[in-house]
Amino acid sequence: AAKDAGRGRYRLFSDELHVAARERNQLEEELRLAIDSGSLQLHYQPVVNTSTEQISGFEALLRWNHPKHGWISPEKFVPVAEDAGLIVAIGEWAIQQACADLARWPADVRCAVNVSPLQFADAGLPGMIARTIAKAGIEPSRLELEITESVFLNDDAGTDATFAALKRVGVRLALDDFGTGYSSLGYLKNAPFDKIKIDQGFVRGATMPGSRNGAIIAAISSLASALGMDTTAEGVETLDELELVRLHGCSHIQGYIYSRPLSTEEADERLGQGLAISATGPRLSRDPR
Ligand code: C2E
Ligand code: MG
Ligand code: MG
Ligand code: MG
Repeated sequence: AAKDAGRGRYRLFSDELHVAARERNQLEEELRLAIDSGSLQLHYQPVVNTSTEQISGFEALLRWNHPKHGWISPEKFVPVAEDAGLIVAIGEWAIQQACADLARWPADVRCAVNVSPLQFADAGLPGMIARTIAKAGIEPSRLELEITESVFLNDDAGTDATFAALKRVGVRLALDDFGTGYSSLGYLKNAPFDKIKIDQGFVRGATMPGSRNGAIIAAISSLASALGMDTTAEGVETLDELELVRLHGCSHIQGYIYSRPLSTEEADERLGQGLAISATGPRLSRDPR
């Protein structure tokens, strides 16, 4: 009987895997079409300079409006795009889109675009970026690439060469989700980052009594500033979190306390009102995680 139950469980498990695999294949096919059909969009979340309380730029975040399922999170479809070999094409589309939008925006506004490690490993990346920037006619330093520590996992000569080539193009580089991966200080020593983005996991709960997160945020900020790099605190949702990351020296802030990611039209409209922005939100976290 135990054996039967075991077999039953195995059967169920394999059926579920089968369904999951089929859903993934379908998603893959639909994603292939999405690039051309216009159902992929970039939304733009303001990044705010802590000392001036002005918008210094935006982070471009992919959105997929699926014909049947509605909005699908990039947490779900970016891994599918990576597996299907579609992320290089999608990433190129995102950079072209962001550069075209930058060309319309004021010259002191930047835009950051997330770059997948697979895209980073593509030898054509620096050339593609140089051509896109030239075509849009924008200052290269207005484009910032957000890279995660996982690019250092295939630690070959290619990684160093790509960093050097991107610096020659003149774009800015940001280390995204800092603190969640290996966070080796060697990355900060050797790679030419202009900014460190402190993962929202450190901001969340930082205002709770006894939390060590504040000390970590302070240490990362002071290390970054000693190295001449900016810091953005990600995912700031409450006025208390805002006060805390300010106190701990983060030069930039991004989070719902200032703004959710905006559609292109909303971002244009926001910029039409000027760069000054103010925090609006609850004082305390509703949901201390
Ligand atoms: P990320 O680069 O760390 O982006 C920050 C995420 O935090 C975004 O989620 C943003 O909407 C969310 N966020 C911002 N402020 C707050 C806040 O106050 N509270 C909370 N709870 N969340 C906040 P999103 O847009 O769902 O993107 C998730 C991830 O998907 C990104 O994390 C990035 O890793 C990836 N991604 C998004 N767009 C792209 C893209 O164009 N290319 C690649 N390769 N990855 C992308
Ligand atoms: Mg990012
Ligand atoms: Mg991040
Ligand atoms: Mg993230």
